[in-house]
Amino acid sequence: MNAALEINSLNVAIDRIPILRNVSLQVPAGKMVGLIGRNGAGKTTLMRAIMGLMPVQAERLVCAGQDLQQLKPFQLARRGISYMPEDRRLIPALTVEENILLPAWANGIHEAQKRLNWIYGLMPEVSAFRTRRALQLSGGQQKLVALARALMPGHNLLLLDEPFEGVAPVLSRRLTEVIANLRQGGLSVILSESDDTHSAGLVDHVYHIERGVVTAR
Ligand code: ATP
Repeated sequence: MNAALEINSLNVAIDRIPILRNVSLQVPAGKMVGLIGRNGAGKTTLMRAIMGLMPVQAERLVCAGQDLQQLKPFQLARRGISYMPEDRRLIPALTVEENILLPAWANGIHEAQKRLNWIYGLMPEVSAFRTRRALQLSGGQQKLVALARALMPGHNLLLLDEPFEGVAPVLSRRLTEVIANLRQGGLSVILSESDDTHSAGLVDHVYHIERGVVTAR
């Protein structure tokens, strides 16, 4: 079953300063939604809030009928909800494959090998450098590995935070292709970008975010 995400009146404040204000947003099951906003608009904060990585107040924050506010991060991972941070955060000394498997080990996810095979099918180039250490990769290759790692748990809802940021044109074309192919896996996706350069052709719906306020387009 694929997850739909429903957010109603979500608020986040940091040091009592409102960062996200009354955010409401829906991701229908199996659809891809764009979240477009300039630097500092609140895209990362919204993704971190969905993942339970910061305190939030929300009337409704539900994925596949489950209140996310009641779940711990490892429980989100076990339910197939995953996040690809903008700043890759790979562990440099581990191999590519170890980096990808890490969320499965950390969160007790079964079927890691099956997921790994699916991920390598989606990105054969990642399979080709799976024994290299993360520190030996280019920035663009690291983005692919960060996506692969997010896909290890992320079989229901995937949050991609500015995946194209800082990626050279050739690799961003490849990344676009890989993200488009995620549709075959029936994933629900939020894809953030500072403008819609790469996401326009990928997403089913677009939301704009400006100074912590989200509007549907
Ligand atoms: P970017 O691409 O630059 O990360 P963004 O749209 O993802 O932009 P956020 O990182 O979510 O934006 O930041 C939203 C706002 O919240 C910004 O004004 C930022 O300064 C503020 N903010 C985020 N984290 C903190 C923090 N830990 N302490 C104080 N302010 C913060």
